[in-house]
Amino acid sequence: MFSGKSEEMIRRLRRAEIAGQRVVLFKPRIDDRYDAADVVSHTGVRMSAVAVEGCLDLVSRTRGCDVVGIDEVQFFEPAIVDAALSLADGGARVIVAGLDQDFRREPFGPMPALLARSELVDKLQAVCHRCGGPATTTQRLLDGRPAPYSGETIVVGALDTYEARCRDCHEPGVDAIQLVA
Ligand code: ZN
Repeated sequence: MFSGKSEEMIRRLRRAEIAGQRVVLFKPRIDDRYDAADVVSHTGVRMSAVAVEGCLDLVSRTRGCDVVGIDEVQFFEPAIVDAALSLADGGARVIVAGLDQDFRREPFGPMPALLARSELVDKLQAVCHRCGGPATTTQRLLDGRPAPYSGETIVVGALDTYEARCRDCHEPGVDAIQLVA
């Protein structure tokens, strides 16, 4: 989060386009924080993308593509790993971007398997919101307080925000049901 991974994705895909390759960029349909049809970085760099429901939808739209980009890949189902491998085996260059850990600092969805099976991995770091150091974690805040790590969180009118934090500044959430009114 805030590490520039969407911007880096777009940079790589643009280079492929300049080289005359057929490029397609996907994102999960659930991620519409900025724009339904585009991938937009936090600094405003954007590229048109195809929002898909899942792996089958994605694979069905890759015919004839040389380069397949998948943004926010952590939100896809586990089958995205085999889908990406299959596309790569078929000759496509597959570039995926995602968060390696969730706000609990647990491995995020399909990311461990993707990290293990990728030929090249670049870990980008954000800037810690607190101290300005290199940030590797995502802090989830509910009305400015660390969100609980487990248990059901009922949020009534609470401001649910995320920010980049370093290891030292990350604050764990309490394991409890929390009512925020
Ligand atoms: Zn820090």
